[in-house]
Amino acid sequence: MSLANKLAEERRARLAAQRLLEQKQAELQAANRKLGKHAMRLSDEIVSTRAEVETVRDENRRVKSDLTVANQKVEIAERRLWHSIQTFQDGFAVFDAESVLIAANHAWLSVFDGLEEARPGIRYVEILQMLTDEGIVDIGETDPAQWRERMLDRWQGNDPAPEVIRLWNGAYIKLIDERGQDGDVVNLALNITDTIRYEKELKEARRRAEDSSRAKSSFLANMSHEIRTPMNGVVGMAELLMETGLTTEQRLYADTIRNSGEALLVIINDVLDYSKIEAGKLVLHQEPFDLERAVLELVMLMQANARSKGLDLLVDYDMFLPSRFTGDPGRVRQVLTNLMGNAMKFTSEGHVLVRVVGMPGDAGDSGETARLHITVEDTGIGIASDKVQHIFGEFNQVEDAQNRKFEGTGLGLAISKKLVTLMGGDIWVESIEGRGSSFGIALTLPVEAPLDPELLRLPPGIRRALIVEPHDTSRTILEKQLGALGVETRACTSAAEALERLEGVDLVLSDHHMQAMDGMELAEALRERGHEMPVILLSPSTGSAEQDPARGFVQAVVQKPVSRPDLLAALQSVAPEVAEEAEASRAMRVLAAEDNRTNRLVFSKMVQALDIKLEFAEDGAQAVALFQSFRPDIVFMDISMPGMDGKEATAHIRAIEERGGGHVPIVAMTAHAMDGDKAGILGSGLDHYLTKPLRKDAILGHIRDARPAGARPPEAEVQSDGGRTNTGLSGEDIAAT
Ligand code: ADP
Repeated sequence: MSLANKLAEERRARLAAQRLLEQKQAELQAANRKLGKHAMRLSDEIVSTRAEVETVRDENRRVKSDLTVANQKVEIAERRLWHSIQTFQDGFAVFDAESVLIAANHAWLSVFDGLEEARPGIRYVEILQMLTDEGIVDIGETDPAQWRERMLDRWQGNDPAPEVIRLWNGAYIKLIDERGQDGDVVNLALNITDTIRYEKELKEARRRAEDSSRAKSSFLANMSHEIRTPMNGVVGMAELLMETGLTTEQRLYADTIRNSGEALLVIINDVLDYSKIEAGKLVLHQEPFDLERAVLELVMLMQANARSKGLDLLVDYDMFLPSRFTGDPGRVRQVLTNLMGNAMKFTSEGHVLVRVVGMPGDAGDSGETARLHITVEDTGIGIASDKVQHIFGEFNQVEDAQNRKFEGTGLGLAISKKLVTLMGGDIWVESIEGRGSSFGIALTLPVEAPLDPELLRLPPGIRRALIVEPHDTSRTILEKQLGALGVETRACTSAAEALERLEGVDLVLSDHHMQAMDGMELAEALRERGHEMPVILLSPSTGSAEQDPARGFVQAVVQKPVSRPDLLAALQSVAPEVAEEAEASRAMRVLAAEDNRTNRLVFSKMVQALDIKLEFAEDGAQAVALFQSFRPDIVFMDISMPGMDGKEATAHIRAIEERGGGHVPIVAMTAHAMDGDKAGILGSGLDHYLTKPLRKDAILGHIRDARPAGARPPEAEVQSDGGRTNTGLSGEDIAAT
């Protein structure tokens, strides 16, 4: 190899070594830099860790001091709690889940009276053993082992019921155990010795009080009974004595003896009843009875008294309520007698009203029942609101000057209340002093027989009734009762008003005794005016000759106070007459207005053979009134009449028709046939025109044309009975011809 080659080779080697050196140096520098960075990071970390350690150390210090404070607080709370528990008069103990005593207060431990073993650490079973072994608990004849077993069972139960034990010294301790969530049991031992003693004393006192009250009541009951027998003798003998020949003075004495004796008997009966109830000796006798009849009988009994005091005695028995129930009729009557008697006693004017309403009750085992409300309302002296509650007490009367003049024992309401309560009902009163009172009882009684619906079904003829009754309450009751039966009612307070309001009425119910014109006079006036609708007279007494329905003015008389059965019977009895007319065919109604008597006679002769009802009006005004009450199918109208003439009357009639009802043909009758007149007459609302002298055929033609549906043809086939034809003539008319 040449030198040059060798040199070149050496240079190349040197260059390579140099490059390698440079490369290694660069690597070394990079490693150095990395190392530097790492060292820096490490030192940062050390700094921050040191700071954290410092913070934690601070926190530790703070927590430690908090803990000390908390510990101190817990200690105080525990000390206070324990102090409180120790001061309890009652025993307190805590057991753990293994039934080992953890703590107990003095009261609890004191029962064991110095026994060493009785301290925390002892188990419940050992305590039970100690209680029996040492005779601390008084278990009487019970076997100690059995007692312990029972007590342990109870203790282990989930929710032990409180248990009362008796200690050797007679003290009663009530044990109450409460199990906590972690199995701990808190046991309270309450000393209830005093409570038990009071309870015993109270029971004893109550028994003694009840015994003596019963003894007193039965003494009273016996006494009253014993007094009653001789008193009956006194009263009876006084009565017999009065039948012997006595001087006036002697009679007065005997009468006084009898009256005083009777008054005394009433009082004794009250006392007897009251004591019987108090002594628990009164039993109710359930039997079927007629409530409605019972009420009506009482009303009848009191009627004479009411009349002499000038009081209206009224009954409002629910139209839809049955009358037969099961209950103790004697006692129901006694309560009602009492309430009604009081109402009569404390009322000097106005009315006394007995109202019976019922709601269907539950249909129980014993069949259908009804919830009855019976109220006795009066318009008497009333009761002050502060006395109202007091009057149901025994021997309680409202004491004031107003009341002092009334006699009584003050037992009536107390007895009524007891009786009603015995019947399972309620009694109450609502009253306004000076205005009146309303006493009510509510009873639920089994219905013995339901109401026969047929009773309430009226024949179709009665649709609209006119009630004439000056007394508001009576009128309202009648309106309600008829309304309940589906009859449309129109009410007025006097006969005069009634006569004005007859239009469309099928039936009149009128009070008998009214001022100005009474019920009989009203009936008579109706007949005189040709009205034929039945009249039912409501009268305090029935059967006087004057009211005899046979006389024809009235069709039925109902005795006041109006009872439901009487009212229904009267309605049924008069209905057929109406029904007959309403149903099939009735006779046509013809009205003729004519002032001249002879002309009336002529007219009536002309239609004599016809099957019609004829009414005459003697002037225009009467024609208008009759048009309303008689409801004619056709009117024959004389034109020249004194007072209101035919044209004017026609105008009135047309005005009435405007207010309802169809057009009724009106035929003019005039003496002077003049052409201009005819136009004037027909222009006044008349439909047809006849000139006098009248012709039979023309009249018949008009009547026949006017026949409405439901009316018989005017030509009668047979005229044998004569009853159908009404000539509308009186004897006077005939005589005048
Ligand atoms: P008595 O009527 O025998 O005094 P009650 O027990 O029947 O006894 O009534 C108690 C009292 O209640 C009566 O004295 C009277 O003051 C009052 N009282 C009862 N009913 C009425 C009534 N309808 N109106 C006013 N006061 C009445």
